[in-house]
Amino acid sequence: MYKSKTCGELTAQDAGKTVTLAGWVHRRRDHGGLIFIDLRDRFGVTQIVFNPQTAPAAHRVGSDARNEYVLQATGVVAKRPAGQENPALATGEIEVYVTDAQILNAAKAPPFVINKNEDVDDSLRLTYRYLDLRRERMQQNLILRHKVIKFMRDWLDAHGFIEIETPILTKSTPEGARDYLVPSRVHPGEFYALPQSPQQFKQLLMVAGYERYFQIARCMRDEDLRADRQPEFTQLDLEMAFVEQEDVLNLVEALFTDLVHTLAPERTMQTPWPRMTYDQALARYGSDKPDLRFGMELTDVSDLAASSEFAVFKNALRAGGQVKGVRLPGCAEYSRRELDALVDLAKTKAAKGAVTIALKADGVHSSASKHMTPQEQQAYVERLGGQSGDLMIFVADSHAVVAAALGALRKEMGARLKLADPNALALGWVIDFPMFEWNAEEKRWDAAHHPFTSPKPEDMALLDTDPGAVRANSYDMVCNGYELASGSIRIHNRELQAKIFSLLNIDAERQRLRFGHMLEAFEFGAPPHGGMAPGIDRFVAILRNEDNIREVMAFPKNQWAQDLMMHAPSDVDADQLKLLHLEIAPPKP
Ligand code: ASP
Repeated sequence: MYKSKTCGELTAQDAGKTVTLAGWVHRRRDHGGLIFIDLRDRFGVTQIVFNPQTAPAAHRVGSDARNEYVLQATGVVAKRPAGQENPALATGEIEVYVTDAQILNAAKAPPFVINKNEDVDDSLRLTYRYLDLRRERMQQNLILRHKVIKFMRDWLDAHGFIEIETPILTKSTPEGARDYLVPSRVHPGEFYALPQSPQQFKQLLMVAGYERYFQIARCMRDEDLRADRQPEFTQLDLEMAFVEQEDVLNLVEALFTDLVHTLAPERTMQTPWPRMTYDQALARYGSDKPDLRFGMELTDVSDLAASSEFAVFKNALRAGGQVKGVRLPGCAEYSRRELDALVDLAKTKAAKGAVTIALKADGVHSSASKHMTPQEQQAYVERLGGQSGDLMIFVADSHAVVAAALGALRKEMGARLKLADPNALALGWVIDFPMFEWNAEEKRWDAAHHPFTSPKPEDMALLDTDPGAVRANSYDMVCNGYELASGSIRIHNRELQAKIFSLLNIDAERQRLRFGHMLEAFEFGAPPHGGMAPGIDRFVAILRNEDNIREVMAFPKNQWAQDLMMHAPSDVDADQLKLLHLEIAPPKP
C-alpha cells in the first residue's frame, strides 16, 4: 500500500502517530523556510509540512513538487498551533511533519485551475475531463450520484425487487427518438439497435414471472441536439406485475421521499406529492411539467371576454378557444421594450399577440385600452387579483396555444422574479395523459407515451370514434419544472395491443416483423403490469443544483454529441468497414 491513511481522516486524536499519505499536490506555499503542501486524495485534503532543518531530504522533494504532482509522504501527525486550525477542513486540527517524501509522478501545469471552482470553458473541461473530475464540485457530484444509485438499489432490494440486466445490442424500441444502429458483421446488411429504453424487455420479464424488476439502465437516443441533452443517459427502470397505477405511484413516491429524507434532508418537499391531471396542469400552469415551487397560476377570463366587444378576444372564443391571463407581481413599470419582449415570447409559442394591463401608480394602462372600457379592464384586474404595481398579461387563442404561451411567460417570469425557493424539491404527479398525439406532418396518430401504454378502460369506446379524446393510464413525475419520469400501465392483451398498433398506422405485416415477439408473448399468460423510469441524471443534477445533466455524468458528450476527450465519434479503418459490409457514400457536393 502506498498509504496508511487517507487525506481525509486525521484528527487531533491521531497526534503523535506516524502516517504515510499519498495524493496530489493541491496547493503549495513556500515560506522560504517551511513549505506547506495541501495533499489531496479522494477522501480529503491534509496539510503536510516540510522543514529544511529537521528533514532536509524531504524538504528538497517538497520544493521540487508542483501543483498536481503525485506525492507520497511519511511523517508525524501534530496538532496545529493554537489559532492556526482550519475548521473548514475535516483534517483542519492537524498537520503532518514530513520526515520522508517522494514524488511518484510529475504533472504538467494543468490547463485550468484544479484547486478552485472557477468557471472554465466547457470544451476545455470536456477535453481534459480527467482533470475536471479532480475538482471538488465534480467529485461531490459523482459521489452523490453513487449514493443515489446505491440508495435506490438497497431500497428496491428491501422491497422485493431484483435487478436484471437487459441487452445493449438489441432491436429498436420506440420511445419517440431515432435509434443508434450497430451493423452486424455476421449478418450482412442487418443491424442491432441500441436500446432507447429496456421497455420491451422489462415487459417480457413480467410475462416471465419476475413481478418486481429494476435496472440502472443506460438508454441511447439519437435525438436532435440540444445543449442539455445527452445521447446516452441513465434511468432507474422499473416494472411491476399485478399492479394498478396507484400501486406504481405509491411505490415510486415512497422511494423518492425516503431518498430525499436520507440524502438531502435539508431540502424541503411537500408530502404527499401533489397530483393533477394533464388537463389541470395545462389549465393551471400552461405546462405538463409545471414548476410547482411557485404559484403564478393562469386565470381563465373567457366568461368576462365573452361579453366584451374586443374583437381579438371574441374571435378566439368564437373559434372554440379561450382567453386567459397571468399576474406578474411588481412588473407594472416595465418599459415598452420589456413589454414587447414578453409579447414576443408569447409569439414564439404561436400566440398571435398578447394584451397587457399595468396597474401603475397613476392608474391602469392597457395595450388594448382603445378596445376595452375601463370597467372591462377593472373586471380582468379583479379576476386576476391584481394589486397596485402588478402587470397582467392575457392571451386569446386555442387552448393549446394559450397554455403554451402563458406557460412560457410563467416560466420566464418565475425565473426572473426568483419566485422559486431554491431549497425546494417540488415533486408531483401529472396523470391521465392523452393516449395519442396528432402528427400533423405525417397525418397520423403517434403514441403520446409509447405504443405499449394502455388506454383508460372507461375511454376504450372512444378508440374507434375519437382517438384524440382517449386518455391513457400513463403518468409523469415532475420536479422543479422538469419531467423526471414517465410511466404507464401497459397493455397485456394481444388484441388490444394489435388494435393500438393499427391505430398508430403500424400495419399487420410491420406488427409481425417489429413486435411479433410482444404480441405472441401476450398469448402465453401475460399478467397485468406497469412501471416507470425516473431519470437519474436529472434528479442528481437537481439535488446538486446543477443546470446541465452533463455535470453529473463522468464522461458526457458535448452538445454536438461528441466526446472531446476520446474523440468520438471518429472514422474507422477501411478494413473495419469492409468487415461490416459498409461503404461510406461520398459527401454530397
Ligand atoms: N420506457 C419508458 C421511458 O423510457 C418508461 C416507462 O414507460 O416505464 O420513458
